[in-house]
Amino acid sequence: MDNLTNFINGEHVSPLKGQYLDNVNPAKGEVYSKVADSDSEDLAMAVAAAKRSYAHWQTVGYKERAQILNKIADLIDENSESLARAESIDQGKPYWLAKSLDIPRASENFRYFANLILQNTELATAMDSHGVNYVHRKPVGVVGLISPWNLPLYLLTWKIAPALAAGNCVVCKPSELTSKTAHMLGPIMKSAGLPDGVCNIILGLGGKVGAALVSHPDVPAISFTGGTVTARAIIEGSAPYYKKLSLELGGKNPNIIFADCDLDKCIETTLRSSFLNQGEICLCGSRILVEEKIYAEFIDKFVQKVSELKVGDPLDKSSFMGALVSEAHLKKVEGFIERAKKEGGKILTGGVRPDLPLEFQNGYFLRPTVIAGLDSRCEAMQEEIFGPVVTVSSFSTDEEALRLANDTRYGLSASVWTSNINRAHTFSQKLDVGQVWVNAWMKRDLRVPFGGVKFSGVGREGGVDSLDFYTEKQNICISLN
Ligand code: NAD
Repeated sequence: MDNLTNFINGEHVSPLKGQYLDNVNPAKGEVYSKVADSDSEDLAMAVAAAKRSYAHWQTVGYKERAQILNKIADLIDENSESLARAESIDQGKPYWLAKSLDIPRASENFRYFANLILQNTELATAMDSHGVNYVHRKPVGVVGLISPWNLPLYLLTWKIAPALAAGNCVVCKPSELTSKTAHMLGPIMKSAGLPDGVCNIILGLGGKVGAALVSHPDVPAISFTGGTVTARAIIEGSAPYYKKLSLELGGKNPNIIFADCDLDKCIETTLRSSFLNQGEICLCGSRILVEEKIYAEFIDKFVQKVSELKVGDPLDKSSFMGALVSEAHLKKVEGFIERAKKEGGKILTGGVRPDLPLEFQNGYFLRPTVIAGLDSRCEAMQEEIFGPVVTVSSFSTDEEALRLANDTRYGLSASVWTSNINRAHTFSQKLDVGQVWVNAWMKRDLRVPFGGVKFSGVGREGGVDSLDFYTEKQNICISLN
């Protein structure tokens, strides 16, 4: 059985105490490999390696850094089939999705930030004729990168690429549930010419080795993507060291559908925004709010299409959805459905595990689920479910739609469906979220600021915002008199 080990100072190394966690294939419910169960001593080795390499890496010029990042991108593309297959088996997502979304985005992350440092310029300001200010960007040093299980390589590389581009060394802690592609990335980066110790990857439990990374005194910044509750532990663990934090957290995103929208396009996109990646995307629209006038028509068409979605073998290209990431997560999602029923929710479709061939009967599959009839304050409309479950409700006026959309402690993203250009602007601007898509969902542009408000996050990543996080902007003022 494959042992997934740490990647420290350019080598795969076993955890010092030799302990491993089971790694389960979610589609089969079977242990198929082992993941290093690292502790604070393994972490200390990784941080020490990163610190040693930082002395050299910060002297490597931006053109050479860009060249190495571009080479990593090329090698990810060359290995895209094996990476996509590994991601699908490890996470439960369909292979076609990993091949068309996760892995291409991982290489795009490296290419984008390689390009950004080649193009980036800074402002200088003249103080009349007696002085000049300019911005000097310094890397932060050794940065801790902690990522979740839903888009494993996609989100880890969204952090590694800008951190390295900006001249930092890093210690990564991918999710213990999905460490396979991170394990594969180590040797890819080495083959691309990344010096040893610049990017270290440490595997294991969040509360153990993740917490050790957060409270390590030689790691002055942590970029974290994950749950809102975990973020609190990260804020608390890092507080004694006044660390720089970037927090990309959960969402309870509304899709607001007005009667004047292109309904067919809206329904096609809403199927994806609800159930792509089994609904395990922070940006998934889990609260569907539909204008009363078209509510019945929307429900008829949407529920019909949801009931036709195929759930099954992630490696079969006809499966729209694969398995949820773990048994614990499946049970958590089912718990939300059961409690929603008790709160008066009506299951319009789904809510059950699908009938699948013997090979997949122990897998963590769930039919896509649509629940109607819930009040906005019910648990299923307030808490992030992070699975293939959406609620549908109606509204009569723009004011009511806005009140419902903002009626949550989260504030990550929203989709607004309308053909009224004025409403598109005015309504979007009143939404308390970091990202609004109008007549679209998850149209991503790596140049724009990405992040949430309220309990959905602190800070922005993407484009120059990523460079801002992974550098300290130093002002230098030269007197000219
Ligand atoms: P999680 O918070 O359980 O875990 C995320 C990472 O943090 C994992 O690597 C985990 O091992 C680690 N971790 C756990 N406890 C820790 C601790 N005490 N100290 C340090 N590290 C710790 O999240 P998850 O279940 O892996 O992912 C799902 C969550 O991520 C959802 O809430 C989802 O919305 C969110 N998410 C947000 C975005 C975004 O960009 N805003 C993107 C994807 C996922």
